[in-house]
Amino acid sequence: MNSWSAISLPPIDSKFEFPALRLFNSATQSITQMPMKDQYSMYVCGITPYDATHLGHAATYLTFDLVNRYLSAMGKKVNFVENITDIDDPLLERAIRDGVDWEDLAHSQIELFRGDMSDLHIIPPQSYIGAIEAIPLIVESIIQLQESNTVYSVDGDLYFQVDADEKFGSRSNLSREEMLTIFAERGGDPTRVGKKDPLDALVWLLNRPGEPSWPSPFGAGRPGWHIECCAIAMSYLPIDSHSEFMIDIQGGGSDLQFPHHEMGAAQSRILGKKDYARIYMYAGMIGLDGEKMSKSKGNLVLVSKLINQGHDPMAIRVALLSGKYSEDRMWHDSLLTEATEFINRLRLLLSRPEVAETDWVIREMIEALSDDLDTPRVFRALTLWCKNTEDLQSAEQFGSAGELARAIDLLLGVAL
Ligand code: ZN
Repeated sequence: MNSWSAISLPPIDSKFEFPALRLFNSATQSITQMPMKDQYSMYVCGITPYDATHLGHAATYLTFDLVNRYLSAMGKKVNFVENITDIDDPLLERAIRDGVDWEDLAHSQIELFRGDMSDLHIIPPQSYIGAIEAIPLIVESIIQLQESNTVYSVDGDLYFQVDADEKFGSRSNLSREEMLTIFAERGGDPTRVGKKDPLDALVWLLNRPGEPSWPSPFGAGRPGWHIECCAIAMSYLPIDSHSEFMIDIQGGGSDLQFPHHEMGAAQSRILGKKDYARIYMYAGMIGLDGEKMSKSKGNLVLVSKLINQGHDPMAIRVALLSGKYSEDRMWHDSLLTEATEFINRLRLLLSRPEVAETDWVIREMIEALSDDLDTPRVFRALTLWCKNTEDLQSAEQFGSAGELARAIDLLLGVAL
């Protein structure tokens, strides 16, 4: 699957030092410091293409873009892979509801998503992989699971036995009752007769009448969602042979923590024979005017719609980054108004021939981002710099507007 256009990253002066990145790891419920090494690997779960791209999606991909930018600014290589679930129940259900062909719906939404990611200045993944193109890899992974006796059939549909992984449940920190409730709410089938454990995860669904299918040694059908991501991650990311973990970061929206990432971690552990991700990291949900933003409520705010209304994509970026990534947050139109005003103020001040001192603000940005992506602290520093520049007296020490603009572009992805 084609990714979107590359984003150029401006250089930063070597006098700025980068502390190790510290991120909240939901598996350990604590801050994990990223070890210093030459390259990192990050897998971020992509969308199912039927409602691209609402602000919740945008907030998630912006979060991991900040991680990518920070590590890249340190001079490190970031191996970044993202998938797109271009075949799954929600896509087929939406196509039937709207009376459209599921493939046409997927293609149109994938195109829209690429455009939105490009407009938002999100660094593209090196590998952007669709579930359909990954079916041979997924089949291979299921065969490996079969060889380790962790898969069984219920009327021809194949399930992964979650108890095969003695660490099952350890990444999401939920009680069994909580897991059962959430599993049922998020597309699981805990009550299906014939399952050994209600939480066992579907890896291959035999063909149903009227649904698309692909050939496999288990019969024609289509893959489950969780096995899709671990097969893609383990094939496209370099597995770190020197570490106890296969990859550094598994990311997504907080609604993916369970069951999706717990199942993926359990399956990957059987396939790779060691722990999957060093850090499980989640972006909070974005609500609208006091309510949860959801498809069923019909109150999704789409990035493309805001841009078509004339809003600056950089203002959308600043509005979403103004809050802490991990917190559930509300979206209000006023956020966009304030972000637009802030960007205009920054642009105006950065075009002045003389500006207030900039080294401290760049250092503060780096320090704040290294501290679990503390973007509110970044914007407080930038606001103070704006005030300092507006109040600037001659004879004070001047800063470099160009250097600050490049740092804002590099670290925050906000091109001014
Ligand atoms: Zn995933």
